[in-house]
Amino acid sequence: MPEGPEIRRAADRIEKQLAGKTLEDVWFAFPELAPHAASLIGVNVQAVDTRGKAMLIRFADQRVLYSHNQLYGVWKLHAEDRPPSTQRSLRVRLTAEGRSASLYSASDVSLWHEEHLHQHPFLSRLGPDLLSEQVTPAQVRQRLLLPAFRRRSLGALLLDQGLVAGLGNYLRSEILFFAQLHPRQRPAELSDTQLALLAELIIEVTRQAYLQAGVTNLPEWISQAVASGEPRRQWRFAVFERAGLSCHRCGDVIERTMVGSRRLYRCPNCQGVSLS
Ligand SMILES: [Zn+2]
Repeated sequence: MPEGPEIRRAADRIEKQLAGKTLEDVWFAFPELAPHAASLIGVNVQAVDTRGKAMLIRFADQRVLYSHNQLYGVWKLHAEDRPPSTQRSLRVRLTAEGRSASLYSASDVSLWHEEHLHQHPFLSRLGPDLLSEQVTPAQVRQRLLLPAFRRRSLGALLLDQGLVAGLGNYLRSEILFFAQLHPRQRPAELSDTQLALLAELIIEVTRQAYLQAGVTNLPEWISQAVASGEPRRQWRFAVFERAGLSCHRCGDVIERTMVGSRRLYRCPNCQGVSLS
């Protein structure tokens, strides 16, 4: 399942295709949306934002198209007269200046007025988005210490979209590895230094994944991994997908475990349970 960085990159592509342009054609598969299609023709597309794994296409008349790809949804960009050849079912198509953005297979799509968007049941539960909003390490640190979060194990908390929006499974392993924390540790048990580092890494690792198309590893470790024959799916990460291989930091063997029914990779040596 794509995580925040992958959704933000998809949003960038759609924004490049449509933003600042006037819609010439709009098509919705959903019966509740279809009556609104004609009213969007002639309207300017302003921006494409993300909130975690949800995408928000903003129109100049203050309406917003919400979509969540869940497991199967995918956006494809194409020339209006050359739709992609696919077995998937088309759900949304937006066309401007002869170019289209088409959403396939997603079922969670709705149209909102900007002023009601905060009432959206999914969006209203989300923490700040690390890639579409200005979020500082101090703010993330403050959120980690909120009563709702401070006593939860990091393994569960980092996947909770209420903490910050957009973290997913590979980011969880990578952030804990760089912070040298065990998934069972809780914010309330961490020293000030550990908390500050964790808050910084939550932002930094997510932004690096966004800027480098999913690569969260460090350059020197990438060279080392490439030299020893690791394929991209392994060298792109510092720890995720590397079970049985040597830890880049200490040489111990990386382990794979299940935390919250999702895979988690960790170094048993670097990420011990020392509660300093
Ligand atoms: Zn290690």
